Amino acid sequence: SYLPIQQLLKTTPGPHVTVTVKGWVRNKRESKNALFITLNDGSTINNIQAVAERGPAEAGQLSDDVLKLVTTGACVAVTGTLVESQGAGQAVEVKINNIHVYGPADPDKYPLQPKRHSLEFLREIAHLRPRTNTFSAILRVRHALAFAVHKYFNDNGFYYLNTPIITASDAEGAGEMFRVTTLDPVNPPRTEDGKVDYSQDFFGRETNLTVSGQLEGELGALALGKIYTFGPTFRAENSNTTRHLAEFWMIEPEMAFYELPENMALAEDFVKTVIRYALQHCPDDLAFLDNRLKEEEKMKKKEEQSELGLLEKLQFVISNEFERLTYTEAIDILIQSKPAKKGQFQYEVKWGVDLQSEHERYLVEKHFKKPVILTNYPREIKAFYMKQDDAPAVGARGEVFGPTVRAMDVLFPGIGEIIGGSQREDDLDKLTARMAEVGVEADAIWWYLDTRRFGSAPHAGFGLGFERLVQFVTGMGNIRDVIPFPRAPKQAEF
Ligand code: ATP
Ligand code: MG
Ligand code: MG
Ligand code: MG
Repeated sequence: SYLPIQQLLKTTPGPHVTVTVKGWVRNKRESKNALFITLNDGSTINNIQAVAERGPAEAGQLSDDVLKLVTTGACVAVTGTLVESQGAGQAVEVKINNIHVYGPADPDKYPLQPKRHSLEFLREIAHLRPRTNTFSAILRVRHALAFAVHKYFNDNGFYYLNTPIITASDAEGAGEMFRVTTLDPVNPPRTEDGKVDYSQDFFGRETNLTVSGQLEGELGALALGKIYTFGPTFRAENSNTTRHLAEFWMIEPEMAFYELPENMALAEDFVKTVIRYALQHCPDDLAFLDNRLKEEEKMKKKEEQSELGLLEKLQFVISNEFERLTYTEAIDILIQSKPAKKGQFQYEVKWGVDLQSEHERYLVEKHFKKPVILTNYPREIKAFYMKQDDAPAVGARGEVFGPTVRAMDVLFPGIGEIIGGSQREDDLDKLTARMAEVGVEADAIWWYLDTRRFGSAPHAGFGLGFERLVQFVTGMGNIRDVIPFPRAPKQAEF
């Protein structure tokens, strides 16, 4: 039997404490009489050092034949005595009696060397990067956050609902979709008028990978009360940004009898609770990532440096109330802002345009200096299912703008939009009128309309991109670095 390093590091050493450790060699140092290796098994950011004396096998020591296979990258099991460490930085180490090499790794070919590799390089070897400190830490934090998500909803009376991954509806035009088909892509069967004959396709209709589980989630809420989804979501985003993946995990709670204020309160409590969970359960990993970021910051120009460290930023988010304001108020702030006046925004701000990440980040990082929830967006830039406000928006100087909907976006520092949600339109007539205006066919989602036709109720919900949350908590700049196997344009090999 063997101990995970995480537990081993808490074990009291002594002359009779024999232990076995199994893991991968991170580093190896040699002196004339001894060999020092650091081992990591993925259970913790902390390595354990093991020391072997060399000499002839007959003398009960480890032979050079075995020791030469112990190189960076090799997988080994070492058995020995757990002793107090002489060296600085570690309390205990293993004095090796026996070592078994499960899998050697040719040191000239093994891509991971005991030094800091660039994130760009590690993205090219994404299949091996979990063996680095940075990525193992990220993956453990990701795990803790996923667990916290389920715990939060379970503790608060939500049911976990699995919505379909293959869908016939395009949900909301939320993003470009990936087609799912068994037809011959080059020569698909065609009907008499030349169109592709989907009746011969596997499902007998056009189908896509889901871009959101929301519409189906609403069905769940209007039967079970409170539900959440947490599953893979696919968008053929054609842009190469640091915040978009083609395959990501979305968390979508949906609640009957919730209106916009309760929806906002839930979103705020939810993100704060899961961040608190990560701080409690991953202190070593977050301290490591905090430190890593500090070193990265030191290399940046002064004006690009961020004022808060990672841990400070997380503390700041969980201890401050999120700022709530309407889209119309935000537009006013943005128009009056220094970057707008100096022409420093890439995209123009005026009432009616969707906010870009640069605007969202200005509001959060420069103006309010805390997370922000924007509400009541213009109807024209939001999805058809959002509940319509009764009166149009009125500006600070009495200007009357267009109609708005009860949407809410939660904006975070460094990220911009982390959550998008709304109260849903529960009035059948208003909903179908809006669908007709924007060209959503009622026939295609007759099942969705049934929830308004039979026993409709006020309800609300939101979508949180899980990777954006992991990005925020780990402080990583690129979303491709917080998912084990990133899917993005031209990136699907492993
Ligand atoms: P954005 O404006 O950033 O493109 P969105 O408004 O298109 O996001 P929504 O349809 O509101 O996104 O989806 C809800 C949440 O899902 C977003 O707030 C975000 O956290 C996340 N999300 C959306 N698209 C992606 C993506 N391509 N990769 C990762 N997360 C995403
Ligand atoms: Mg988008
Ligand atoms: Mg958006
Ligand atoms: Mg959105």
